[in-house]
Amino acid sequence: MKTVNIAIDGPSGAGKSSISKAAAKELGFIHVDTGAMYRAIGLYALRNDCTEPEQIVQQLEKIHIELKFIGGVQRVMLCDEDVTDYIRSPEVSMAASKVSAVPEVRKHLLDLQKKIASENNIIMDGRDIGTVVLPHADLKIFLTASAEERASRRYLELREKPGCPSYEEILRDIQQRDDNDMNRETAPLRQAEDAVLVDSSNMGFHEVVEHITALIKETLD
Ligand code: C5P
Repeated sequence: MKTVNIAIDGPSGAGKSSISKAAAKELGFIHVDTGAMYRAIGLYALRNDCTEPEQIVQQLEKIHIELKFIGGVQRVMLCDEDVTDYIRSPEVSMAASKVSAVPEVRKHLLDLQKKIASENNIIMDGRDIGTVVLPHADLKIFLTASAEERASRRYLELREKPGCPSYEEILRDIQQRDDNDMNRETAPLRQAEDAVLVDSSNMGFHEVVEHITALIKETLD
């Protein structure tokens, strides 16, 4: 059976995951958040004190990542432990950004990502989906927004929580991750030549979901 594969790439904090999730729900597709896989490896690296490239490479054989979809919602399993709720902290974000630059780590996840895409109708989001993982995707979208806008959205989301970082700290963190993602040698973040650019800097959440859902429906017609 030929499955439908939609690739959504873009920088940290552009809303790829929440937008992909909403669009997938509307279309009855599975949403695959590849960032969660890198985050699970980042968590392993922090827990086992092996964040340096040569250390994480030595451990890769032991790092078993699996995705489960429960009621269409993704859970990420690290060596059979459901770590979905432990991978969103700033420390794990930075560790994920670091380990994701290691070519062997990317290779470790590539086959799993391709396999899921070959078996399901999916919207897969990440950094290299249109360029490396699914070069023949039915539709590729590059979803972006200015770093300031992404930082301001994140700050509004977090500001009621205890220990919320300042806007400046969040902006610095986003710029640091953009820099890591765009300048690494293997599978850097970039817009695929045949991707549709969606700049959400001046768009609301629902507007972006509607726009992207319409683009997907047009592709399927
Ligand atoms: O998308 P998210 O912020 O959850 O991803 C966490 C980290 O994983 C990113 O900072 C990025 O470095 C890395 N990543 C990647 N390739 C992907 C998805 C995420 O390098 N396809």
